[in-house]
Amino acid sequence: MGAIQTISAADAAPAEPEPVSGSDASSEIALESVDRIIESAEPLRRWPDAIRSRYQETVTKRFYQEQHFLFMLGLLSCLATIAVDYLIAPSVARDGFVYRVLAVCPITLVGLYAASRRWTILTKICMTAAPSAFIAVLVVLAVNLPPENTAQYLTATPLIVGLANIVMPYTMRELVLFNAALIVTAATALVLGSPFPLVAYLDYLVLLTVVALSTLPIALRFERLRQRNFVLNLRSTMTSEKLLQANERLRALSERDPLTGLPNRRCFERVFEEMVEQRLWANTTDGKPQGRIAVLMIDLDHFKAFNDTHGHQAGDGCLRLVGHELGSLLDKAGGVAARYGGEEFVAAVYEEALGDIGRVAEEVRHRISTMLVPVGPSGKSIVTTSIGIALAPMDGEVNREDLIETADAALYNAKRAGRNRVKAIEIDSPVGACA
Ligand code: GH3
Ligand code: MG
Ligand code: MG
Repeated sequence: MGAIQTISAADAAPAEPEPVSGSDASSEIALESVDRIIESAEPLRRWPDAIRSRYQETVTKRFYQEQHFLFMLGLLSCLATIAVDYLIAPSVARDGFVYRVLAVCPITLVGLYAASRRWTILTKICMTAAPSAFIAVLVVLAVNLPPENTAQYLTATPLIVGLANIVMPYTMRELVLFNAALIVTAATALVLGSPFPLVAYLDYLVLLTVVALSTLPIALRFERLRQRNFVLNLRSTMTSEKLLQANERLRALSERDPLTGLPNRRCFERVFEEMVEQRLWANTTDGKPQGRIAVLMIDLDHFKAFNDTHGHQAGDGCLRLVGHELGSLLDKAGGVAARYGGEEFVAAVYEEALGDIGRVAEEVRHRISTMLVPVGPSGKSIVTTSIGIALAPMDGEVNREDLIETADAALYNAKRAGRNRVKAIEIDSPVGACA
């Protein structure tokens, strides 16, 4: 037995199915960390950095949208309260109109603009300044009203504080500062607008503080719920991504021949249909698809004898080498090659220019015949292959089964004619050889 050309490990190793790249959600975050947060209800500060920064990103994205909406709502409420002033306190309605239009509306409009431009600091300043101005106007109007209306106007302010605490997208620390600002503003408005000393409004200020303090835990609870909602969503996104990846991996494995790393027959069938479909649309003249498609049946010659002589292991190595050669040649030609079964391979290629397919098939035959050549004077190929080609015009009905059957018949012709050769049959035309 002659020495056989060495097969490099890289050449002969079956190709691993390509790993499916993970999407954003699962790239740096471990599902176990997310599970731990859910199970032990961990607070935000104990979350792993990657999850916490993902949460901050989500919050930031939502922040401007929410704030834009809240400024719009604030603007509408401000305009609505002008009408309310005329209804229940006509004596201060004119002042109310002036204060609201000159103080509250401009701050709200600046906030609206800042939120739409994503200017964080100005947005946050206006988030505090607009409700503060709103409350200051209410307090100033209240102290200038008859006592029964004063109470009405003053009790509206704790409601606003409570509501703002619940809807404002603030962090807990910001919320505390926000409440302090609102209470200080109300107190300042009382000092500046009322003829009575501040202690006269002590019960009101206490009420305001109690409302502020009692709504803070609700705001905190909402924030916790938002965080929990975020981790639950993250978990479900990651789980479905993992499932998709596992499915994709499974599909890749189920479509690959483990010995050669080439696509298997099932994959060939899918890719062939896709190839035909793609070509039908890609290359048309007057709405008619152009060119021809070919199916090649490639069968190693006397492979049983190869096994008998060199052993089954060497036979496997040889099949891997053939798979590698076929894969790269067909890839170069823009086609697809697959292991059909045993020592038989199948390929499909689209004919760009007349004669292309014959050249591809001839190159395949030549490469395989020169793949394993003994060192020594004989130089006789150890492995040769016979190739049968079926050709069909793209403008006709392209039927995979017919093409394979015809390619098989052409392969039979090649075997009968002495092996190590290429024979072709054109569908819808008499049998003809192209090599
Ligand atoms: P022909 O030129 O007519 O095709 O002759 P042949 O010997 O190649 O054809 P035959 O159908 O008689 O034998 C095919 C051989 O291919 C028999 C079998 O041992 C071998 N074979 C099929 N699959 C494998 C495989 O996975 N590994 C190895 N080592 N051999 C295989
Ligand atoms: Mg054979
Ligand atoms: Mg065979």
